[in-house]
Amino acid sequence: MAYLFVYSPIFTKRRFDYCIIDEATQITLPTCIGPLRFADRFLLVGDHNQLQPLVRRTEAIKKGMEKSLFKMFTEIHPNAVANLRYQYRMNEEIMNLSNSIIYDSNMLSGSAITAQTLLCIPRWNEDFLSQFHDPDYYCCHESCWLKDVIDPKRPLIMIDTDNLLTKEYVSKGKYQNDMEIILVEHSVKALLAGGVSAKEIGIITPFRSQLKHIAHKFKGYSELEVSTIDRFQGREKQVIVLSLVRSNSELKVNVIIYIILVLFSEMTWPISLNL
Ligand SMILES: [Zn+2]
Repeated sequence: MAYLFVYSPIFTKRRFDYCIIDEATQITLPTCIGPLRFADRFLLVGDHNQLQPLVRRTEAIKKGMEKSLFKMFTEIHPNAVANLRYQYRMNEEIMNLSNSIIYDSNMLSGSAITAQTLLCIPRWNEDFLSQFHDPDYYCCHESCWLKDVIDPKRPLIMIDTDNLLTKEYVSKGKYQNDMEIILVEHSVKALLAGGVSAKEIGIITPFRSQLKHIAHKFKGYSELEVSTIDRFQGREKQVIVLSLVRSNSELKVNVIIYIILVLFSEMTWPISLNL
């Protein structure tokens, strides 16, 4: 937080050897430059493939304010970049997805144990799913999608909703997807019934309207977090459920989908795919 206090006498009355800025990819260029003036050398730490600075004004975005100093330097001075390649937090199947979409196979597992770790569902062998089989919600017609989704042997799961009739819709300028709300509710309640702790489950979505409706479904679970992507950046959970919302015949999606793939540990992801 030190960069917020750059006009404090601590900074203005002395010179520093080094200035280190963490999460440098999430702050705007003017904010980043401020503290750099007080040091002879600086080190910016971050990942420009994750969330960029949050800029609301259209004019500022048009003029490039979303581009962090970090990202600018990676383009102008690639030799000054040191890549940290090892991650210690996620199963390798999840890492491979990030590698194929963003990191060009440059990310590696630093821990063989974490790379193979699977979700533990304590009651998996009992018949705990029986209460959730509901043909009205497309369960157990040809097969049981719910059983497939919460299968602990599968660290990464995507639900393709392409063949379902319900798609996204816009209400008062906000995107929502009711079918995904149902899928998320059933998946997460099945995990809870299987014995997964509510505090180890996070549900995220890029759209606030969707967030509000999902949160309503889990009113009684105070430890379960339903949040936006930016609030979850840098966090870890045993299970992350991601509701992408966008699903339309024009194949329009949000760029942010690609950004969030790198953030989390073991996951089950109900996703509306039109990637
Ligand atoms: Zn079923």
